[in-house]
Amino acid sequence: MLDQVTAGAQQGGTEDLDLAATGVAGVTIVWADNNGIPRSRTVPAGQFGAAARLGVGVTPLFAVFDSHDTITFEHAPLGTPSGDIRLVPVVERLVRLAGQPGFAWVPGRQVAADGSPWPYDQRGALERQVARAGALGLEFLAGYEMEFHLSRADGDDGDELRPVYEGPSYGPAKMLAVDAFAEQLLRDLDRNGVPVGQFHGEYGPGQFEFNIAPSDPVTAADRQLLARQTVHAAARAHGLRASFAPLVTMGQVGNGWHLHTSLSRAGTNLLSGGDGPAGMTAEGGAYLAGLLRDLPAVVAVTAPSLSSLQRLRPGFWTGAFTCWGVENREAALRLVPATPLLGPAHANIELKPSDAAANPYLALTAVIAAGLAGIEDGLTPPDPVQEDPGTWSEARRAERGVHRLPTTVTEQLDALLGNQRIRAALGEELTGAFRAVRTSDARRAADLDAGAVVRSYRWLY
Ligand code: GLU
Ligand code: MG
Repeated sequence: MLDQVTAGAQQGGTEDLDLAATGVAGVTIVWADNNGIPRSRTVPAGQFGAAARLGVGVTPLFAVFDSHDTITFEHAPLGTPSGDIRLVPVVERLVRLAGQPGFAWVPGRQVAADGSPWPYDQRGALERQVARAGALGLEFLAGYEMEFHLSRADGDDGDELRPVYEGPSYGPAKMLAVDAFAEQLLRDLDRNGVPVGQFHGEYGPGQFEFNIAPSDPVTAADRQLLARQTVHAAARAHGLRASFAPLVTMGQVGNGWHLHTSLSRAGTNLLSGGDGPAGMTAEGGAYLAGLLRDLPAVVAVTAPSLSSLQRLRPGFWTGAFTCWGVENREAALRLVPATPLLGPAHANIELKPSDAAANPYLALTAVIAAGLAGIEDGLTPPDPVQEDPGTWSEARRAERGVHRLPTTVTEQLDALLGNQRIRAALGEELTGAFRAVRTSDARRAADLDAGAVVRSYRWLY
């Protein structure tokens, strides 16, 4: 049944696809807003054919929802409650949810009421960058690592986090503590078409991680959203609750959603086989240098929330400084080089300041735009940093051109708004809406202490 639903959708056969006959009651159409929060509409199975053709109506104001569901009317083009757009399912991505078998899941595109492109559609922004890369003969692969905390969901202490396991990190006993959940999660990810490389108990109390195999960027973003739903459903089935928040508990490690990318030309990975640093080709090095040049603006998109700022601390492997290194886990950009064992296809660049508060489509838009600009400008990367720059003096960092990434919303927005390359990739409309929600979030948090900020982001994603 599951396969019939998925295979039928992949052939684009929505009219012939009798979803109800397969036991699907409804199809949930999902997109991610400018806070990285998934939003959705569910259509009864019998209505899905029409929804696939015409979309469903939603308010354009989702572009200016802040992290706590306040609609900020401070972006003038979306400054009134009037208007409607269409949310159109990407039918070939329809999946019957293994963990919620009465429902199918599909990512959505946001289009204007007349069906034309809508400038606030984040998925569309990524498609434009992928097309731009294609026109240059370049192909990208992307994959997310997803860290999360598992809390026991029974009990009456509401929003508190009660780690499902406190004991040695990475041990098999940590996996034993979530045995049935882990089994369901691995099976459901597989059945939902989310290929996973590995799954482990991470460093923090109750923290776990899996990584999604690389794919084209739009698929990588779609899968990241589907993986969240899959985790939440498996957690619920086993009396657990998953927190994807960048920082879950004060003083503990946070949840990074490290973003790995690589690029190739005519099937050859440009991050290996060259005579540049760590075997990069000139174009591969230019990609890295482009990312480094625009890093503060890129990170304003890939780790954008107040919770992101709380997570981004030196000494926690989050990449708080603007530098790159070969396998350096304190560098914002960690080059994972090719090795004789793993081969040239393995080489990739990991962006560590990246988390669940990022819209995954916009995150990849910013990354690809920065990297392509580096290639177009023929940049070369500086020497790699192999130490922890957090242990260096300010003077030594300055000498090496290494800076702390923004620590406040104002600094983040200055970096983003002052960067024409990233602004152009997002487009002025999305940039304006993005700025409005960041400002609204900051205003709400102005009177909160750090612990209250942590709590207010804990269960959003
Ligand atoms: N938990 C760390 C973070 O917030 C990452 C640890 C790791 O490198 O796996 O990014
Ligand atoms: Mg990790």
